[in-house]
Amino acid sequence: MTTDRLERSGGCACGALRFVASGTAVRVGLCHCLTCQKAHGAPYLAFAVFPRGAVDLSGAHAGWESSAGYHRLYCPACGSRFANLAGDEIELPVASFHDASGLDPQYENWTIRRLSWVAPLAVPQFTRDRDS
Ligand SMILES: [Zn+2]
Ligand SMILES: [Zn+2]
Repeated sequence: MTTDRLERSGGCACGALRFVASGTAVRVGLCHCLTCQKAHGAPYLAFAVFPRGAVDLSGAHAGWESSAGYHRLYCPACGSRFANLAGDEIELPVASFHDASGLDPQYENWTIRRLSWVAPLAVPQFTRDRDS
């Protein structure tokens, strides 16, 4: 999140899927919702949002629609989740980037589902979805 010409790459655990995100992230957040917890098998999802057109995806992927218009993609070979599509935006897991420096969370969603041992960050907190 430093220059307009920044390109960041990342992908799944087995390497079959790759992405390249151009430019700065629109926003970076954490989601503690039940679906993110279960889909990622993790206490929460840290994600970076980019305009859909700013991200090139390569490799065969599978996916499912976890809520209307919200598609969660994963690698059929290794099972890594690597992108969520919503409208004209794409969310990439911060931990899927080869270099996640600068992708620091700016807010937290669904804190009502936060696990008891996960401490809040010093960023805006939203009980459910982000307000704006
Ligand atoms: Zn894979
Ligand atoms: Zn979520």
